Amino acid sequence: MKLLIRGGRVVDPGRAVDRVMDVLIDGDRIGLNGTPDRVVDAGGMLVVPGLIDLHTHLREPGFEYKEDIASGTRAAARGGYTTILAMANTQPVIDNRAAVEWVLNAGKARGVVRLLTVGAVSKGQKGEELAELGDMIEGGAAAFSDDGNPVSSGELMRCALLYARMGDKPVIAHCEDRSLAGEGLMNLGYWSTILGLRGMPWVAETAMVARDLMLAELTGGRLHLAHLSCARSVEMVKEAKARGVRVTAEVTPHHLLLTDEAVNTYRFDTDTRVNPPLRGEADVEALLQGVRDGTIDAIATDHAPHHLDDKEVEYAYALPGIVGLETTVGLVMSRLVDTGRLALGTAIRALTAGPAQVLGLDRGTLAPGSPADVTVIDPAREWTCDPSRFASKGRNTPFKGWQLRGQAVLTVAGGEVVHEGIA
Ligand SMILES: [Zn+2]
Ligand SMILES: [Zn+2]
Repeated sequence: MKLLIRGGRVVDPGRAVDRVMDVLIDGDRIGLNGTPDRVVDAGGMLVVPGLIDLHTHLREPGFEYKEDIASGTRAAARGGYTTILAMANTQPVIDNRAAVEWVLNAGKARGVVRLLTVGAVSKGQKGEELAELGDMIEGGAAAFSDDGNPVSSGELMRCALLYARMGDKPVIAHCEDRSLAGEGLMNLGYWSTILGLRGMPWVAETAMVARDLMLAELTGGRLHLAHLSCARSVEMVKEAKARGVRVTAEVTPHHLLLTDEAVNTYRFDTDTRVNPPLRGEADVEALLQGVRDGTIDAIATDHAPHHLDDKEVEYAYALPGIVGLETTVGLVMSRLVDTGRLALGTAIRALTAGPAQVLGLDRGTLAPGSPADVTVIDPAREWTCDPSRFASKGRNTPFKGWQLRGQAVLTVAGGEVVHEGIA
């Protein structure tokens, strides 16, 4: 099918394009010319490369009551995503070639958008024995991570970087020194003291960021830092990049929008419990600056759906994590772009070309000949974040009730319309 998206403002940061023009989808590729079978009027709309999420917990296999491949990829399509990277902390853990192939096949069979998968760094994500990274690369793993858990052993991390390097794959690090994080429930600081909740010091993150940057330098492996939350982390990544260390980094929308004060504002709402925890105002500013200057390559959701039973409990017993696939565009557009905190091109880059580069994908661009992954965003569409309307099974978001502006109204993945209309 030839689909013409006509007259939209095309923002394609990977090619420094920002102007009104048509985009032709020709089968599964971005086309150049030809007579369309269908024309969509995109006047007043933003036309961007299909969004790419580097950090999605899909919960299948094992926790299908929280999310599954069908519901999670439907949520992705509604949120404007055309490619998502599933984390490996399922039951069983995705730690061998057969499991990787199972996820990729399930994604093809039941997924609405393109599903890539991480393979675990260690067998069972136990942090003890290195998993068969080479086999998993052959099976199609896009990256390696024990996310959900940190890789506490430096030697294991060193080996992972070395083995992943053979396939030029990144190791995605959840940076947390568990001995420092302890039983902390939120950021250690003023608000943890006022609220009487156990705190996690920022050094629990930065100590591991420092270690992993050194290991990347030592091994020449590719390191990708998940969900950075601290100013000092951004500073270290910037310095390491300047020295040529092969490191990339991501930040979540919630770490760009909320501080630890939210635990008070939302009166111990367990949807403010995330890991790493929400930090202070200076951290938020440093993270935004990191996105602006390219130190941080991607905005990633860390979409972490949980069942009500995991969240409607006392703060200390709630599982950390929130959903993000269906809120990110609205949050980024209305709270970061419309407010002037991020330039439009910078924000779109962090959702498209940035994450594509982290994984070495030929996506995240609208260049003719590229895969036909396109998202049309209505920047003026006002909506209220209502979790009961999510395609995701997860309802856990601190943004419920927020008035947002900007929403994906058309998502085309691999040439197929996978979402159309307003959510
Ligand atoms: Zn994590
Ligand atoms: Zn995660």
